[in-house]
Amino acid sequence: MYIHWFRRDLRLHDNPALLEALRAGQGHVVPLFILDDVVLRAPRTGAARTAFMLDSLAALDRALHERGSRLVLRRGPPLDVLRDVAEESGARGVCWNRDYTPFARERDARAEALLRARGLDVRTFADAVIIEPGEVLTGAGTPYTVYTPYRRSWRRRVEERRATIMSEQTLPAFAPPPDELRGDPVPAPADLGITLAQSLPPGGEEAGLARLRSFARERIGGYEHDRDLPAVPGTSRLSPYLRFGCVAPAAALRTALHALDALTPEGSGNEESDRPSQPTTHDSQRKTQDSVETWISELAWRDFYYQILTAFPHVLRSAFRPKYDSVQWENDESLFSAWCEGRTGYPIVDAAMRQMRQEAWMHNRARMIVASFLCKDLLVDWRRGERYFMQMLVDGDHASNNGGWQWAAGTGTDAQPYFRIFNPVSQGQKFDPRGEYVRRYIPELARVPDRHIHAPWAMSSEEQRRAGVRIGRDYPEPVVDHATQRERALALYRGATGS
Ligand code: FAD
Repeated sequence: MYIHWFRRDLRLHDNPALLEALRAGQGHVVPLFILDDVVLRAPRTGAARTAFMLDSLAALDRALHERGSRLVLRRGPPLDVLRDVAEESGARGVCWNRDYTPFARERDARAEALLRARGLDVRTFADAVIIEPGEVLTGAGTPYTVYTPYRRSWRRRVEERRATIMSEQTLPAFAPPPDELRGDPVPAPADLGITLAQSLPPGGEEAGLARLRSFARERIGGYEHDRDLPAVPGTSRLSPYLRFGCVAPAAALRTALHALDALTPEGSGNEESDRPSQPTTHDSQRKTQDSVETWISELAWRDFYYQILTAFPHVLRSAFRPKYDSVQWENDESLFSAWCEGRTGYPIVDAAMRQMRQEAWMHNRARMIVASFLCKDLLVDWRRGERYFMQMLVDGDHASNNGGWQWAAGTGTDAQPYFRIFNPVSQGQKFDPRGEYVRRYIPELARVPDRHIHAPWAMSSEEQRRAGVRIGRDYPEPVVDHATQRERALALYRGATGS
């Protein structure tokens, strides 16, 4: 008997630790999940993420039942639960897939020591990322701190591993865990005191794989063009499924590699059903290829931030580059609240913040705009925005969220220089030219003409009357003036860096 400890891998397919537990236990496996109150009550844990996780756990339990097994769910401190379940089941060993946050690494080291001291075999595996932190290093043997050279090495490593990545292992049969081994039912969100305002996508492996397949079939070919347009459903929306491992990152990559293969004459003959619709000309084939490669690069971004977090865990508390820790943020509470609630008076910012409140998800371009706006227009410490995102997002992930925030604040690795500041009006005009995204989340502005949609305060009283909105009454005036704040932000950063 072996225990498989599910954590961020809520699926049966492509699960290296589960596969090993099944092999080592000859099918006799306890599929264990531990609800840890320390994590549930952590200030960065959000209701949407917990609800999505519970839905994914329920789906996992159903999938296990279909295979004649069941999920053994227990609530308590992980080490105590592991010790109890190992004792009660007579397990010889425990397998799990590795996690990379400082909290998880410390917990796992203690779990491993405890289990080994009790004579159990412990086996751990790479799974949450495609290329593990530390696997690709610079010529000097140090972790990459700049994305572009990292991606090149990452992509080469993917090609070296292609055969392994492309092979999908079949899951051996399960024997059910002993009847007397107690497990609690998967709680409903309300059992944990959660009432959700948002409607979330369905959790679990099946829903995640279905989304991956439809993205690969219908949208991956247009990704390069559509991914920056928040009004268009041009991205995969796989992030919550990757966050909880409902979809293996390796499976996402494999699907993209199949899509690339299908573009070559040899590949187009295979029966792969996830193939994007066939391009007709050389040019459109090139475009599809570029799009798929761009999407693969996003998976590399994810791995990049995991290796940054692993090598530089201080980033969760402070700037990657310590000189930026002395920026004297103004941290005005009323401006922070206006940002959280989507009433800054800048439509693209407010639409994005309202999208997050309604869907617990936000488009990537919009994340970049609102993060820049918080630090560089409202002069609020990026860490406050980072924490708020973690509380709100269904895909909230310590590594990617921190990386995204430090990128936007200009304090991070591959930092855009701090003096490059997004203008919320021109960002809106460029990436939401017809204002569709803005109108979707800000109905007050539904009738504002396109030319004013990103700066509605510029409308005359007569134009406001015709658009059925009074700025300052139905929709806020801008809470700050961008041009003024830009200069003030530059002064704050200069003051901290002396440059
Ligand atoms: P797609 O465009 O379809 O990309 C596929 C996958 O690649 C994503 O699901 C995600 O896992 C990964 N990915 C894409 N872009 C990035 C990126 N820039 N960095 C890291 N991984 C990426 N992503 C999270 O998963 N969790 C977060 O908490 C998070 N916080 C962010 C905060 C800020 C300020 C910024 C600028 C970005 C953040 N991102 C985060 C990255 C990105 O916005 C989301 O991954 C993406 O919007 C998810 O949508 P998608 O699944 O449709 O992505």
